[in-house]
Amino acid sequence: MSRRSDASSALQLVPAAHGFATGDPTTDPTAPRYGPCLVPELPDVELYVEHVRRRTLGQALEQVRVASPFLVRSFDPPLRATFGLPVTGVRRLGKRIVLDLGSDLHIVLHLMIAGRLHWKPPKAKVPGKVGLAAFDFASGTLVLTEASTRKRASIHLVRGEEGVASQDPGGIEPLAADDEAFREAIRRENHTIKRTLTDPHVFSGIGNAYSDEILWRAKMSPVRLTNAMTDEEIARLRVATQATLREWLDRLAREAGDDFPERVTAFRDEMAVHGRYKKPCRACDGPVQRIAYASNESNYCPRCQTGDKLLADRGLSRLMRGDWPKTLEEFEQRKRERTVANEPEESLPRAQEKTAAGARARAEAPAAIPPKRRTGR
Ligand SMILES: [Zn+2]
Repeated sequence: MSRRSDASSALQLVPAAHGFATGDPTTDPTAPRYGPCLVPELPDVELYVEHVRRRTLGQALEQVRVASPFLVRSFDPPLRATFGLPVTGVRRLGKRIVLDLGSDLHIVLHLMIAGRLHWKPPKAKVPGKVGLAAFDFASGTLVLTEASTRKRASIHLVRGEEGVASQDPGGIEPLAADDEAFREAIRRENHTIKRTLTDPHVFSGIGNAYSDEILWRAKMSPVRLTNAMTDEEIARLRVATQATLREWLDRLAREAGDDFPERVTAFRDEMAVHGRYKKPCRACDGPVQRIAYASNESNYCPRCQTGDKLLADRGLSRLMRGDWPKTLEEFEQRKRERTVANEPEESLPRAQEKTAAGARARAEAPAAIPPKRRTGR
């Protein structure tokens, strides 16, 4: 793979040894402060699905006690239409959990960031503050909580498979995808690979945590543009995606054993790079780095994934005066704004070396840091 064709070369790349402007809170006052990313992703949701299925399949849903007025987002049919219906299936739909019931009714539950499930004895109380709802079965109670002041978890009650499909963002199932389907999904739009992997309209169930792990395993830069990827790279990414997700499915199932999973978090010690900023990479021992947005971050290993370059962009951060992009979309947009007009992003560095236009662009670009300042730290 050519470094020049990598999207990251359109950023101001600096050798990792210099170690600046990476959003490090100890040296960078603009660095965002936030907790670890907690959105349950495919392996976590599958684990819930398996354990809810074991406990509820074939049983009647006696009633649903709803404690939060914001939880149920559908009106027709009313939730009480489900009372007394048997559970005929439990499945995952992207990051959502579907409870299939008799009469072709389906409860689609989206945990969002902080929504969690718990299995309690029959008629268990819905806990105050964090409790959203309780699903009563003869054998126990499935309790839904959300440990966040912003209540974002949701329930939709829908009729028929069309109703279920209306809740599906439409991404392909990464574990079922063959080479061709995977390649088609990757190339549908030209974005950074990090954004494409985490786009629920492209791939089902992959979020910030597992995409970090997948890209690390594939030894790929998170900001590589999908249209620049070769068939070989996409094939390698598919292998890494499936291996990573399978490994975690197995690990989580093993850890939970017969107990209902109470430790669902996308932040785990065993991860290779996600949530391991500054800690040693599992493969090369080098420090894990990050690209930070307002409420999120990507972790990666420079040595294993980016040819030892930091994806920090000192010029970009100066331009934004500490206003880091909130989303990958915004990050890409700002990158694009800084790219010379009509010049394909990946050929930018070469164009800058060879042409007068490039020299002009270099002089004008806020990211152009004089060499002596670059080595000054
Ligand atoms: Zn490494």
